[in-house]
Amino acid sequence: MTLDEILNDIGLNASTLTGGNLDVYSPIDGAKIASVAMDSTADVQGKIENSVAAFKEWRQVPAPRRGELVRIYGGILRAHKETLGALVALECGKIYQEGLGEVQEMIDICDFAVGLSRQLYGLTIASERPQHKMREIWQPLGPVGIISAFNFPVAVWAWNATLALVCGDSVIWKPSEKTPVTALACQALFEQACAQFSDAPQNLSQILIGERDIGEALVDDKRVPLISATGSTAMGRAVGPRVAQRFGKSILELGGNNAIIVAPSADLDLAFQGTVFGSVGTCGQRCTTTRRLFVHTDIYDSLIPRLKKAFSGLSIGNPLDAKTLVGPLIDEQAYLHMEDALNKAQMDGGVVTGGGRVLADQYPNGYYVNPAIVEMPEGTNVHEETFAPILYIFKYTDIEDAIARQNAVPQGLSSSIFTRDMQEAELFTSETGSDCGIANVNIGTSGAEIGGAFGGEKETGGGRESGSDSWKAYMRRMTSTVNYSSALPLAQGITFDTGETE
Ligand code: NAD
Repeated sequence: MTLDEILNDIGLNASTLTGGNLDVYSPIDGAKIASVAMDSTADVQGKIENSVAAFKEWRQVPAPRRGELVRIYGGILRAHKETLGALVALECGKIYQEGLGEVQEMIDICDFAVGLSRQLYGLTIASERPQHKMREIWQPLGPVGIISAFNFPVAVWAWNATLALVCGDSVIWKPSEKTPVTALACQALFEQACAQFSDAPQNLSQILIGERDIGEALVDDKRVPLISATGSTAMGRAVGPRVAQRFGKSILELGGNNAIIVAPSADLDLAFQGTVFGSVGTCGQRCTTTRRLFVHTDIYDSLIPRLKKAFSGLSIGNPLDAKTLVGPLIDEQAYLHMEDALNKAQMDGGVVTGGGRVLADQYPNGYYVNPAIVEMPEGTNVHEETFAPILYIFKYTDIEDAIARQNAVPQGLSSSIFTRDMQEAELFTSETGSDCGIANVNIGTSGAEIGGAFGGEKETGGGRESGSDSWKAYMRRMTSTVNYSSALPLAQGITFDTGETE
């Protein structure tokens, strides 16, 4: 499928992809695929103003009716799943199957949000005063600012936007400067949904194209009560305090340093599959990628040679080719980070198998790498996320020690244990077990279903989005007490007699 065929199918006007001041390159071969126009900080002001106006209309549309727009959008995504999936592969370099998976995630969250649009339940709370009723009411919040990373160029927006839309909010999206074309494609499809729906105000969803400064202008604006920001911990460390400074709310979804523990009783076939997909899938560029593996000494020699063999036989290449399992890194900088991390690991006593650039002759401007395994010496750990396919391996003998070492890093996103020992599995998911937002048993760290709340602790930012009750972050909680008596009793039994009689 060529870019022109994709754009035609999606209905994205090719002229929006030329003549702009932001060049976009495909990681497949480094070829320029677009030059899109960046917004200025003045444009940001105008778009936020538009978003406030859209919000004022949209919040009055009944929630189940708002869900209808998301239902239509989900249908449009279903019809364009293959082309949007291919565009994801072309622009961010993940393999076509994973591109399709990402669009499926958008479709799934649309379905979830449609159901949710009839379930924005509040509570009825017992009042301490006679003939009083107390209720909790969830109200639309306002324009929601969404900042997203390059590696999930469409799904992360959909997780946020679909929930925000059914909650009665307008949305403004600042996608990664590395993947603006997929964002424009999502917007074009969203506009088609709005055209089929009579109650959508103008500018209900808008895009801001640009770099960090454009993100900052969104982050600093008081008219945007919620910023949902996905990206590196460095980005979250800058964004979190800026939003807090103006008393805004934020959902931070930041870097991970995810680990799998493989216990002696584990089904080694499952552990093997979960580890390989988790560590090399998306070329190691998922926030939930498996970066560390703690293997019990009794099974080390059964698992590690098998992993090394698998790593050396992976089909690496063009992500649009059906047999490819590992596509390219996003760019040269990502490759240099991987090289640095491997050099550092070696200096720390790690033994590296694999790594290094491949296919450089065929793709001089594409950065394809052999995934690497690093066997780390006793007493070491890895505290930083390198966004590349490197799997650090550690031996352990005691499960509590393995859990403690898994937890002894700044990040807290995803974790898992492979075991058939019930006590170990329950310990891992107990209050003294994994300290991550996601703790799986006999499933790898990578990927998650939309039904659960997604996010992590510590430097992963503490945010939760997608399923469960994450929707509450996109609404304003109101407590309302109604007095239907003829007296005015005060709370806590306070008497406040003014002495006045009729
Ligand atoms: P990045 O931090 O470089 O950029 C992410 C986004 O933030 C971009 O849109 C960028 O323009 C914007 N940005 C950067 N600095 C900003 C600032 N000061 N103010 C406002 N906006 C700013 O991340 P990336 O390289 O695109 O993505 C990779 C990172 O994202 C990894 O660390 C990965 O773990 C993380 N990630 C986390 C999740 C999650 O759900 N936890 C999901 C995907 C990616």
